[in-house]
Amino acid sequence: MAQQEGLTLLQFQKKFSSEEACHQHMFEQRWPKEFCCPKCQHQEYYFIEKRKLFQCKGCKHQASVTAGTIMHKSHTPLLVWFWAILLVAHDKHGVSAALLSRELEVSYPTAWLMLQKIRNAMGDRDANYKLAGLVELDEAFFGAPTEGGKRGRGTEQTGSGGRIAPTRRWPRKATIISPSNLT
Ligand SMILES: [Zn+2]
Repeated sequence: MAQQEGLTLLQFQKKFSSEEACHQHMFEQRWPKEFCCPKCQHQEYYFIEKRKLFQCKGCKHQASVTAGTIMHKSHTPLLVWFWAILLVAHDKHGVSAALLSRELEVSYPTAWLMLQKIRNAMGDRDANYKLAGLVELDEAFFGAPTEGGKRGRGTEQTGSGGRIAPTRRWPRKATIISPSNLT
């Protein structure tokens, strides 16, 4: 797998310049081709502007673009979440809740909660989806593969078992990736 180029701060700021842009990005993450109802697979929907929900025309199920991500059911704007993810991923020494609170103009408890969620997500295998497809984590972080997952570049698996505990660790490298095309 080719290493993806990270977005620069300016590119990031340009791409995600509004809440709408972030929302659009989330939509593309969840439905890369077109809307598809998670309940009945119907492809037509009504958009409920106020609650930012997609209601299936077939079964009336209401789907959210943030389902399965750390932003689900949060009242914090996506834009703020995106920047929080960016800041946390960029700073290897660990961003503090106080800094997030100050820079993103949210209360300390909100910043603290966001920080916990982002850090927890970074320890997961589906981190990328949980973090809105914004962050690519260094493979080395995950240690030995599970469920026959393929590894890149002839990594030797000694199978010495138990040496790498499947615990949550801080990624060695997290890159803000460029999802789909930059517009
Ligand atoms: Zn449906």
